[in-house]
Amino acid sequence: MKRSLLSVDLRLALKEPGCPICRLRADAELRYIRSLLWEFVNDPLTRSRFIASLGYCREHTWQVGLLEKEKFGSSLGTAILYEHLTLVVSGRLKDYTRRMGWARRPWWKRWLYVFWPWSARRLAARELTPETPCRVCQIGERAEQAHLEWLIRGLAAPEHDFRDAYRASDGLCLYHLRRGLASATREDEDGARVLAESTLQRLATLEQDLREYQRKHSWDYRHEAQTPGEQLAWLRALRFYGGNGQTET
Ligand SMILES: [Zn+2]
Ligand SMILES: [Zn+2]
Repeated sequence: MKRSLLSVDLRLALKEPGCPICRLRADAELRYIRSLLWEFVNDPLTRSRFIASLGYCREHTWQVGLLEKEKFGSSLGTAILYEHLTLVVSGRLKDYTRRMGWARRPWWKRWLYVFWPWSARRLAARELTPETPCRVCQIGERAEQAHLEWLIRGLAAPEHDFRDAYRASDGLCLYHLRRGLASATREDEDGARVLAESTLQRLATLEQDLREYQRKHSWDYRHEAQTPGEQLAWLRALRFYGGNGQTET
């Protein structure tokens, strides 16, 4: 992805509610799913990836299926993709059942398991193990990593306009803060420091708002009006610890 594009996308995401990296990852995944449904359902490379990963992960399976139904009004793409996958999974499961029947194997084969007992203990269905991870997750991961690196580099830069934009945003969720700090190098130390310090400030306000929210729910103080920050403290806590919810992007 081009650097200028990364920068523009990040600046836009910083103006939106919630964690900017969660948002950019969700955007990248949604773009992939839309293009899949628009024109790549019958594309050989897309299909081979879909089969290699035995479909998408559970979250993206539902996202693809529901998005098609909602946007296209039919589920033709879903029908095409899953007819193919169903054939493949059925074939794999048949292979698995052919491997069964351990107890009926000749005595000398069973005797071998005395030396390799772990190989006989579990009936692992290796046929049903995907060869590759979910393609939508892969696309999201790539976007997430690129934007995180660019964010830290931008925060480490001597011009402070990017820092100001970050400080004015809702900031990173805990998951992306951890990933961002883990990927920072010594050259990015200033960026990592901005991330850590602005999160500390945000957490101090959050802690206070959560405490006040509880206090004003008690009988003795129920007449005290809540500030806007206190009213939405629960949402800020969920966003920080749980990232952006599905409904937020
Ligand atoms: Zn996040
Ligand atoms: Zn996925």
